[in-house]
Amino acid sequence: MKTLARKSAGHLKDKISGQVILPGEGGYDDARRIWNAMIDRRPAVIVRCAGAEDVQYSVAFARDHGLEISIRGAGHNIAGNAVCDNGLMIDLSGMKAVRVDADKARALVQPGATLNDVDRATQAHGLATPVGINSTTGIAGLTLGGGFGWLTRQYGLTVDNLVSAEIVTADGALIGASEEDNADLYWAIRGGGGNFGVVTRFEFRLHPVGPEVTAGLMVFPFDQAREVLRAYREFVMSAPEDINVWVVLRKAPPLAFLPAEVHGREILALAVFFSGDPQTAQRRVEPLRSFGKLHGAHVGVQPYVNWQQAFDPLLTPGARNYWKSHNFIELSEGALDAIIEFGGKLPTAQCEIFLGLISGAANRIPPDATAYRHRDTKFVLNVHGRWDHPVDDKRCMAWAREFFQASTPYASAGAYVNFMTADEGDRIAAAYGSNYPRLARIKRKYDPGNLFHMNQNIQP
Ligand SMILES: Cc1cc2nc3c(=O)[nH]c(=O)nc-3n(C[C@H](O)[C@H](O)[C@H](O)COP(=O)(O)OP(=O)(O)OC[C@H]3O[C@@H](n4cnc5c(N)ncnc54)[C@H](O)[C@@H]3O)c2cc1C
Repeated sequence: MKTLARKSAGHLKDKISGQVILPGEGGYDDARRIWNAMIDRRPAVIVRCAGAEDVQYSVAFARDHGLEISIRGAGHNIAGNAVCDNGLMIDLSGMKAVRVDADKARALVQPGATLNDVDRATQAHGLATPVGINSTTGIAGLTLGGGFGWLTRQYGLTVDNLVSAEIVTADGALIGASEEDNADLYWAIRGGGGNFGVVTRFEFRLHPVGPEVTAGLMVFPFDQAREVLRAYREFVMSAPEDINVWVVLRKAPPLAFLPAEVHGREILALAVFFSGDPQTAQRRVEPLRSFGKLHGAHVGVQPYVNWQQAFDPLLTPGARNYWKSHNFIELSEGALDAIIEFGGKLPTAQCEIFLGLISGAANRIPPDATAYRHRDTKFVLNVHGRWDHPVDDKRCMAWAREFFQASTPYASAGAYVNFMTADEGDRIAAAYGSNYPRLARIKRKYDPGNLFHMNQNIQP
């Protein structure tokens, strides 16, 4: 492993207000550990930044010493780009402040914040911005790739609510990006990932949400999957945008509202979210119950912040993960065949198939308005290969890959960069499609040497 010369490391420690951690020092292994346990890399140095100046200094230091740079928000990215071998890891996880201006309905967010940090601060004012569905995910990586969750049908993607950002670029400068300021960069970071620099501050638009919403699970037997999926497909075609419903196929966790004999068996669950008036909620979500003969349901009024954490127990860090993902404009019968076939042969109790619903406000934005361009995507299929022991690597990855192949004919050509694994570099062009040449031009302007390349890389 490359080691930093003692003198250089000492110099770095003198300059950084946060923490500089070298191999062998206390906290090194904790700091390099990320969500996906498949990733085991050893940076030459980890800089736990305390502010934008630390980021600027780290970027300049890495560049001057020829060190690879990786950027870590909350370390959730499945491809593991947050951590590098032998390079400098810019660890932003200590920069977590969220400041809300309730009158202006805006939040200023540091890049180490998790979704839970953002939700808690904004919900204290009855406000929220659309983010993902697992509260320990980082706001930074999620936003820079697009970002979607329960509020997306109503208020768009996370990038659609990004008003401005501050970024440290490859030359070490700290600059702004917004409609008025470096508008090309502002366009590029709304979907272009970590290609253009290190974001040190996000500004989001907020919307009134909750703080109580109606949400929960309806769980159906797996042998009714086809009729439930057909009814779901029909329902979401005309469902109002304050309702969002995702589909999860997995083995049933030991949920208290399910009969014991269902635990561990394949099921299809509808995850139901309704942000409107709780008084009308039962009537609005009632039709979903009749999609099949329920094993059980648990849907009720709860704080939005709690629902945002509902899936956390199934998505804890430390497991081995290999994901595949497709976008769909429609759910054809062929897509349903593939989902049901592979939902019926889950290789472990942690593997699952998620079908997220986007549509609504996210679809009303032109494809060239932001770097994220899949404005026709209605559903995102996420195949979660997830297991604990390396001995299962081969068969779990094979399941995910075979499912991906089987569903490819029914998917749209696009891809969501935030769900791509490290071996999917050949899908980056498809992910950006006709926006790619413009992204490459902007990359040439802000990072001509491709200093920031540990990402779903856009070639300058
Ligand atoms: C369990 C789980 C659930 C998820 N659910 C959703 C979901 O509901 N909706 C959704 O849209 N996505 C979801 N995702 C995907 C998620 O958006 C990506 O994994 C995202 O990259 C996570 O961001 P992070 O900051 O935690 O990741 P990190 O691994 O820390 O960062 C990922 C990459 O983003 C870039 N990056 C991070 N911070 C910065 C920065 N400040 N400046 C520049 N570049 C930066 C870097 O290239 C870095 O390698 C989920 C992921 C997981 C693991």
